[in-house]
Formats: sequence, C-alpha cells, structure tokens
Amino acid sequence: MCTNADANITHMVREMMFGLCEEFEYLECSRCGCLQLLQIPEDPAKYYGEQYYSYKKSPHGVLKSILRRRLVQHVFGGKNLIGMALSRCTAAPDYCDWFKKCSVEWDSAILDVGCGIGDRILKMRNDGFRDLTGIDPYIERDIIYDCGVKVYKRHIYDIDGDFDFIMLNHSFEHMDYPFAVMKNLHRLLKPGGHLLIRIPVAASYAWRKYGVHWVQIDAPRHLFLHTPQSIAILASESGFKIADVKYDSYGFQFWGSEQYKRGISLTDQRSYCVDPRKSIFSKEQIKAFRAKSTALNANKEGDSACFFLHKT
Ligand SMILES: [Zn+2]
Repeated sequence: MCTNADANITHMVREMMFGLCEEFEYLECSRCGCLQLLQIPEDPAKYYGEQYYSYKKSPHGVLKSILRRRLVQHVFGGKNLIGMALSRCTAAPDYCDWFKKCSVEWDSAILDVGCGIGDRILKMRNDGFRDLTGIDPYIERDIIYDCGVKVYKRHIYDIDGDFDFIMLNHSFEHMDYPFAVMKNLHRLLKPGGHLLIRIPVAASYAWRKYGVHWVQIDAPRHLFLHTPQSIAILASESGFKIADVKYDSYGFQFWGSEQYKRGISLTDQRSYCVDPRKSIFSKEQIKAFRAKSTALNANKEGDSACFFLHKT
C-alpha cells in the first residue's frame, strides 16, 4: 500500500473458517501496518463454500418488516407514533447512522458492492429507500426483484452509473487491486458523493493480542487487512477525503480468535456461531467479550471500522 520495502515481516496464517488448516503467507508492512496475502490461490472459489454467508437470504417476518419500516421512517423525519414508540425501546438498523452521516435521502441512488444476493438492499427497500442497486461477481446470474431492487452479476470495472452513495460491507478486503477498485468507485460516484467502506482493521487490539489466530485475517479470503494509514493512502491517491471513521467491532473478535487459538474452526460443531450451547464459552464470557468490544471501539482499537469517504 505505501510502497515500503524495509523491515517488513511475514506470517503464516491457517484457513480456519472451514478448518482446512492450509497455510497462507501474509506480509505485514513495518510502515503502514497493512497485512497483505502474498499469493492469491489459483482457485479462490474453493475457499468460498456453497453455504458462504453472503449468499443466504435471511428470513423477513412480515410484522417485523412493517415495524422496522416505521422505525426507519421516524429516524428520517417521517412522523409516526409507532416509529416514535419503537425508537425508545429498540435500536434503529445500523445503516440509519451511515445514511444520516452521508446525507442519503429516500430517492438517493445507492450502490452496494459485493452484496451477495442483495439481502441488505432488500431490507433498505422495505424500509422505504427507492433507488437500490447491487453488484456481486460471484452470484449465479442477475437478479431483478419485483420491488425494483436490481442485483447484477458484475465486477466493479464493468458497471456504469451515477450514484449518490456507495457502500462496501466487508467486501473490500476480498478484492485484489485496491487502487483500481478505489478509482472505479470514484468514477461511479456523483460529485460530492459519499463512499462507505466497512472493513476489518489490522491496527487493532485483536491483531496485537491474537496475531495469526486473529479471526478476521480469514485466510485466504481476506487479501488485505488495512489500517487507518493504508486507507488514508488509498483515499488520497484516488480522489477521496476521509470524513470520519467509526469503529464497529463486536464480540466475534474475541470468541472467534479464542476458538482459532484452540484449533476450533468457525464451522466446527463446538463453534459459538454453530451452537452456543456446545461452545466453550459461558454466557458471562460472551457478555464480557461484548463489553470489551464496545470499550475498544470507543478507543479506536476495535478490529473493524466504517470509513466514511467523500468524493473531492
Ligand atoms: Zn505499508
């Protein structure tokens, strides 16, 4: 990222989502701290099983979707009593915060890059946003939903458009040629448009504590683990200004990494996300992981963050 060639070190990291245990070599830059996979596998698809999470559509309960819509409308100034009441007892979807920061409106043109089959933008459509497009080169074919949401099987290099807001929800770290990706994101945004990149962050407590067992390295699917320094380089080289950084890590950084340290893969029967009752953690431990993550986020040391960029 920063072209530094001095005093860089490498680490061998095992594939642990599926527990294949194959090793992959990552380079850690001594200057900007970015971690980079040195040799991308010839057949990356092998490391994305059919059950890979972004291809699953989560169930939408009808009542839940109606209530959610009311809540989101309240957050964006649409007066309604149900939304107001809900806002007192439940948190609005995470994206409300991003949209507010980036002045997204009901008719803004929104692009989700690396969206799987479009689960997130479908929810946004249900909540009232009207102009939603997604791209993902790994889906089977284009999907045009009845509600108007369009998801195309394409790479960032192969689409045109004029978007107000583009988001990458944990997809940027899977992409090769980050400078070229950034230049294309710049091309696809309207002047003054906003870009949100949500990624794991290597300049974090979890990387320092767990090293090669840090769950978010996710070898060999994550090609780059950035730091605020490496993102700053990417931003300035491609015509963006960093407007804000918000840390949003959660307990996963602890329970996932603790599992990897003990050789328990993410998909193992004892994995917390497979069956909490069979996991090695007590409820108290999980609660403590959550609390510690909140504290780390406040100190800008959580292991994932939202980078808000503004097209200059
Ligand atoms: Zn560097």
